[in-house]
Order: sequence, then structure tokens, then C-alpha cells
Amino acid sequence: MNKTDLYILMLEDEPFDAELNKAQLALIDEYHCIITVVADKDSYLKALETKQPDIVLSDYHLPQYNGLEALEDLKARNLLIPFIFVTGTLNEETAVETIKAGAWDYVVKDRLMRLPLAVRNALKLREEKRLLAVTEEKAQRLLTAIEQTSAQIVVTDEKGVIEYVNSRFTEVMGHSMEEAVGKKIMDYYASENNNDLIATAWSKLIEGKVYRGDLLSKNKDGSVCWELVSVTPIRTTEGKTTNYVIVKEDITNRKLIEEELIKERDKAERSDQLKDAFLQNLSHEIRTPLNAIVGFSDLICSKEFNLPASISNYASIIKQSSDQLLSVLSDVLTISSIQKGQEIVTVRNINLNNFMNDLLEKYRPLAEKKNLEFKGYKSITDRNITIESDETKLNQILDNLIDNAIKYTREGSVIVRYEVFDNTIVFSVKDTGIGIDKEAQEHIFEPFRQADDSIHTMYGGIGLGLAISASYANMLGGEIRVESESGKGSTFYFTLPCQTNQTAITDKDPVRTGFIKKTLTILIAEDEYNNFMVLEEYFNHSTTTILHATNGLEAVEMCMQNPAIDLVLMDIKMPVMDGIEAFREIKRLRPDLPVIAQTAYALEKEKRQFLELGFNNYIAKPILKESLFKIINSTLLAKV
Ligand code: ADP
Repeated sequence: MNKTDLYILMLEDEPFDAELNKAQLALIDEYHCIITVVADKDSYLKALETKQPDIVLSDYHLPQYNGLEALEDLKARNLLIPFIFVTGTLNEETAVETIKAGAWDYVVKDRLMRLPLAVRNALKLREEKRLLAVTEEKAQRLLTAIEQTSAQIVVTDEKGVIEYVNSRFTEVMGHSMEEAVGKKIMDYYASENNNDLIATAWSKLIEGKVYRGDLLSKNKDGSVCWELVSVTPIRTTEGKTTNYVIVKEDITNRKLIEEELIKERDKAERSDQLKDAFLQNLSHEIRTPLNAIVGFSDLICSKEFNLPASISNYASIIKQSSDQLLSVLSDVLTISSIQKGQEIVTVRNINLNNFMNDLLEKYRPLAEKKNLEFKGYKSITDRNITIESDETKLNQILDNLIDNAIKYTREGSVIVRYEVFDNTIVFSVKDTGIGIDKEAQEHIFEPFRQADDSIHTMYGGIGLGLAISASYANMLGGEIRVESESGKGSTFYFTLPCQTNQTAITDKDPVRTGFIKKTLTILIAEDEYNNFMVLEEYFNHSTTTILHATNGLEAVEMCMQNPAIDLVLMDIKMPVMDGIEAFREIKRLRPDLPVIAQTAYALEKEKRQFLELGFNNYIAKPILKESLFKIINSTLLAKV
């Protein structure tokens, strides 16, 4: 076994005695003793300097030096080295004197066999003292930290009676240590504002858990301040709480800032609500008159009336301008709703080829009017393929891309492609138009940004279409990017990850002209006479009987009295009784009667609200004949 070296410095002028001592030390077999014997002061001091011993054994009487002096010389060095007297005779008085002077032990020569035990005890004691010194030093450091920290620290007994407070506590609370000790910690918090918080704190502490929270405390001068308080129960291994350590910090300033921030937030929220309400009203108030403008100009354009070309041309200009106005309005509302996170993705099955055919057919006349070559390519040949996505959002994304391609192309072509790769569809819209330079490509997807200032003058627009498309693409899990060269044209790519299903489906698209039921009686609840007239006119050449109610109450009464009514087209904002209340009454009296909301409340969230309320369907003003008939048919189909 490897033994630890034990350095022993022996102060002994008698060689014989030194040998006797050595013989005893040899019995300490757990150590490898390395003994240096010195006989005078100089050699002793030199030996102390040369190698620090683990223990000093010293004779009491020496010719020109003595043991007590040697002890003093050792103590002056402030080292933790046991000093044991090993001496011939030592009366009781001298023995006491040596211990008082700081000797660790003494061994008289006629009982020299006690020397190994004395050495062992001294070494053990040295170890204990060393550990104690380390612990004390740590405790001292901790105490200094507690005293110097900027937090207030309190220690209480298990009943909350204060046993210790640090300097910061006395400084902040205005109570000296003597005044605080013995007081109950709760006395500093007794205030009506705190009762609930204190009850919560106690319930946690009783379970032995740490409590952390904000409390209102009372200073000596009666002033109050907010504190962030953390209380930790100190528990024995048996789980008994013996003390609580409370660390608290004055957070009055933070609270004041928080209160200010809350006020600011409330103010901002209020102004946001006002902005919302304003946009909502604006949208409603613009859509209401637009309904008559768009509806009538659409009717005038239709061939039924056979009006002179110039008149239907004017009407088509009115319709185009109204569409533009409507598109600006709905873009502004959509971007505001996107920015507020109010947009919701509603996934349903879409027959991709039908969807794309409809979209392409919608834009064909516009492209042809500009003499552009307009083509659509699909990689999915004639198979029926369904995808799961949000049809409205998908429609709006592609609408914007195709509309832009036609708008920004004077001559050449616009080619729309869509290809399916595994579970991804890549749509592309390629044009031979004005193109976009590299720098502008960086910002055209941001709201209200156009490629450059000349664009607005030449083409109009407000720079929202691509921002909306990019956000929608993102919501659907896809992305949009552009490849373009100034003057040569652009290709916009829109990638949409989605589950495709290629099994044949039956196209349940409702018939677009005429109704599934030949003779219908429809009640139109509408307070604006112009808007009623447009709708009535739409049904002019059909076998449908149209009834008119000018407010909600009238609508309810008519539904009650006339069982022949097959369907209600319900305006929402009406005098006497609004459309929602009327809808509820009608559903109570005739639960099976379909009610369609026809309204200028056209925001996405408003549409959701109406459908959630239970309206059978919804159509936003301005209402076009074709969409109205489609909605009526799908509502009646759903009922069958
Ligand atoms: P708007 O067309 O109303 O200005 P968009 O957000 O749809 O707004 O488009 C932003 C800008 O991107 C446009 O102003 C135009 O400068 C540019 N841009 C979009 N599509 C095309 C395109 N196909 N060809 C050339 N420039 C385009």
C-alpha cells in the first residue's frame, strides 16, 4: 500500500531522546514518516522555511531556546500545524500553560508510548480544523453576499417570525435589524389589496412549495411599494418546515412602467377597434350602393335588352370601374385582416381541372380584348383530380397572378400551366410583358409596393395583390417566386404542397342556368329599394315569384303567413328588425326554410359569423346574377 508522507519536524537537543521519539513514531504505520531533527532556534526556523512540516514535536527545555518560544514562532507564521510538546517532566501548571499558549498536546517522556496516539489525534484535529476553516470561509462569503446583494433577504421561523434581515432590508423598509427581528413578516404585508395573494402564497408554502409573486408592502413611514417576493420553505428531511427564506425586490418602478404600457396597449387596442369598425362600415356603405350600380350595369350589358352598342359600352365601363373600386376595397380589407391574423384556412375538396378551366375562361375575354395569346396547359390530361385546399384563397392567388400578367402585357402571350409532382402542384403564369428589374423583384411582395413610381401612373393599382397572394400561399403551405427580366416578361411560380386524389369523381357542380325546382317563391328582405329592384330584375324572365319585405319583422310575418315561400334572401342591416334576428325567428318557426344572407357585410370574418349562426348560405354585395343563381341552386341542392 502506498503510504502518505508525513513530514515531522522534531526540536530536540538530546540525540538519545530523539532516537526514542523516532522509535515511537515508527509505530505509526499508516504514514511514511520523514523526520527532521533540529537542536536549536536557527535550524528550527530554517527547517520551517525550507519545508512546511505536517506536525512539530518539541522539547520543553533547550539550551538557548525553549519550547514555548518555538510555539510562538510557529504561530507567528499563521499555519495550521499541530505543535506537540514531548518533554521529560511537565507539572500540571506548565502543562496547562502550554495548552493555553496554543500547544495541541503534550507527551511526557516516561509515557512516550502515547506519542503515536497524540500524533494521530493531532492530525485528525488538524483535518477537522481545516474543514471548519473552509466551511467558515464559505459561510463568511455567503454572508457577505447576502449583506451586499441589492435584494432584501429575510429569514423567519416556521411561524413567520423574523430571525434575520439583511442590510438592504433595513435600508429600504426603514426598520433596524433589532426592530425587525421578532416581528411577524406578515405585518409588512397586512393590506386589503394583498389578502387574496397572501392566501395563495400560504396555500403553496404549506405544501412545501416555493411561492413567487408580486405583493404590496408597507414601509415604516407608511408608504407602500410593490415587491417581487419569493418565499422558500426550508424543510428537514422528515418534511417539517423549520424556516422560510424570503427574497424580495422593490419593483414599484417596473409596476408603474407596466401600468403605463397596459394603458398604452388598451389605447392602441381601442384605436384598432375603431379602425376595424371604420373599415367595416366603409366596406358596408360602399358595397350597398355598388350593388345597384354593378347589378344594373350588368343587366344593361346583357344581350336580353338589345340596347344600342354605345349604351352597353358605357354600362360595361361603369361595371369595370365598379369592379376596380371593389377590388381596391376588398384588397385593403384583406390585407388588414391578414395583418391582424384574422384569416382562416377552410380546406375542402377541389376538382383541380374544373377549377382551372373556370379560372381560365374567366380571363379569356380580357386577354382576347388585348389581342394577347392566352393559353392554359395542364399535365394532368383528362383525369379528374381533386386536391384539398382553400378554394377562395387559391382562387385569389391565381386571380392576382393572371390579372397582373394580362395587365402588364401589351402584346405577346400569357401562358398558365399547372403540373403535379408527387404531392406538389406547381402553377406558373408566364407573360411577355414589361418585366420587373432585379431590384424591384426584392420588394414587390411587400404590401403597397410597386416596381417603381411610373407603374401607378400608367397602370393604376395599389400594390396589394402580390402581398395578399404571398401571404395566402404561405397560409396554404406553399410559396410564390418570380423570374423576370425588364422588358422581356415575367414568370410567376406558385408551389402548393397538397394531397391529390386521382380517382374519378362525380362533378356535383350545380347547374348554372335555371333552377333545380322549376317554380320557386323567393322572399327578398331588403330595405334599399334599388337593391331590391336589381334582384327582382334578375328573376324577371324566370318563373320565380318574388316577394318583398322591407325589414326583418315583415319578413318573419310573411314567412309565417305564406307557406309557399321556398327560400329567403335576407339582407342584414335593416330597420325595425335586423336580418339576424329575423333569421332566428324564421328558423324557430320554419326550421327547414333555407335562408341565404345577402349582405354588404363582406369581410371574411363576417361571412364566417353568418355561416356559424346557421344561415344556409351567404352572398356578398354587389351581387351578380350568375353567382346568385349558383348559390340558390347549391342551397336548394343541399336541402334535397
Ligand atoms: P398592383 O398590380 O396593384 O400594383 P401587385 O401587388 O399585384 O399590385 O403587384 C405589385 C407590383 O409588381 C406591380 O405594381 C408591378 O410593378 C409588379 N408586377 C406584378 N406582376 C407583374 C407582371 N406580371 N409583370 C410586370 N410587373 C408585375
